[in-house]
Amino acid sequence: MTVSFDHWIDGQCTPTRGGGSLTTRSPANGAEIATIAMGTADDIDDAVATATAAASAWRRQKPIARGRLLMALAATIEANTEELSALEAGETGKPAAHAQMEIAGAAAYFEFYGGLVNSLHGDTIDLGPDRHSFTRREPFGVVGIITPWNAPLNQAARAAAPALAAGNVVVLKPSEFTSATTLVLARLATEVGFPGGVLNVVTGDGPGPGSALVQHAGVRKVAFTGSVRAGRAIGRIAADRIIPLTLELGGKSANIVFADADLDRAVVESLNAFTLNTGQICSAGSRLLVQREIHDEFADRIVEAARVLTESDRLGPVTTAAQYEKVLEYFDIARADGAKPAIGGEIASDGGDGYFVPPTIYTGVDNSMRIAREEVFGPVASIIPFDDENEAVSVANDSVYGLVSGVWTRDISRALRVADLLETGQVFINTWLAGGIETPFGGVKQSGYGREKGVEALHHYTQVKSVTVAL
Ligand code: NAD
Repeated sequence: MTVSFDHWIDGQCTPTRGGGSLTTRSPANGAEIATIAMGTADDIDDAVATATAAASAWRRQKPIARGRLLMALAATIEANTEELSALEAGETGKPAAHAQMEIAGAAAYFEFYGGLVNSLHGDTIDLGPDRHSFTRREPFGVVGIITPWNAPLNQAARAAAPALAAGNVVVLKPSEFTSATTLVLARLATEVGFPGGVLNVVTGDGPGPGSALVQHAGVRKVAFTGSVRAGRAIGRIAADRIIPLTLELGGKSANIVFADADLDRAVVESLNAFTLNTGQICSAGSRLLVQREIHDEFADRIVEAARVLTESDRLGPVTTAAQYEKVLEYFDIARADGAKPAIGGEIASDGGDGYFVPPTIYTGVDNSMRIAREEVFGPVASIIPFDDENEAVSVANDSVYGLVSGVWTRDISRALRVADLLETGQVFINTWLAGGIETPFGGVKQSGYGREKGVEALHHYTQVKSVTVAL
């Protein structure tokens, strides 16, 4: 049964002024999941106006009062896991267990920042006996948040929880392919007592309401998660408006396996690193740099593990038609460039109607090939051999991206030496994706700037004011 959603503005369902709508469909079988409003610049005007009206009272609440509401929202997200995970799985194609895990993750963001905001504080600065100087961390006001389709509720929560905790009000524009759970989130926030206007959701596409949100004079900061292409467009507008941005963009992350690594663990986690969520994670470990003396053994073992995964039902489809076409295009590009698929690399003839693609591992890859340089955003990895530590670091850093990297070795000195040299926002040693909400997350180079998660995100959603008194 299709569910129908309007925008969520000022604590209530609000029809779009333009009258248009979009239909979201299951990528597994094409079934209709939801009808959402096609937002317009007028809808963004309304949402920013109501957010602005709510801003002053929200920022003046004691942090502990805002924190309690965030924690209540966390609890109600958990209590509504069934509805949320069904919508999330329907729109994204994620297996049910994975969708449930992401809903739990979304709840945890509100729980974490609901508590952490109580220790948000400024500093005192020593100016000697005749001056007293201190800093305050103040909210921006209206924060615009734009999210992608790969982990819809999780990414909405990742940005909205610290923004709201810090005393900002939010207008959120989710991906046009996966808006349902973000709309339910806003409804739940109202139900647990968030004042109207504090968390608003306007749906629709990027060039329409997405761009209007970034351009709106009432929006004082934007947090964007998505592609480099859209991030650049948003960055140009933000530069003209001189507003701060958090940009969480793509990646082409190197996962370096040295010959002395615990291969049992390295194989399992390295496969997971590029197949989790069907490879549609920004931090996918899509370049597997393997020391030459274990190259063949490692390749055989990870290909075998991928074969077992192919035969399981743990891999959902990719989420959008465009993403499906993109993965298929990269199969052609890799082949034309001379990469050899050790497994996958083509669609099974009995693949059905859904956007299913097989786990794919290329060997014979050189880091200059497009399959090693460009983000595929599917369950696709390339194995690239290296001889020594210096070469591993230089190949890993030879990328326009800098989101995540991994190092597998039993030599802790080498692990830390290499971690120091890798040009990425995150480094995982003998694991992959091990960081929690407590750990800051973000990119360097074209993977973006600013940080989500951790106390850093709370800081990123505030601006520092210094106050100095003559005594
Ligand atoms: P996308 O950039 O196409 O869309 C993301 C969001 O931006 C959507 O809500 C879309 O409607 C909106 N948008 C698009 N163009 C816009 C514009 N000109 N102005 C304003 N808004 C606009 O990305 P996607 O295809 O939804 O997501 C995939 C990308 O997201 C990948 O590159 C992936 O690496 C990245 N991503 C990054 C992270 C991270 O934390 N670094 C996390 C998840 C996804």
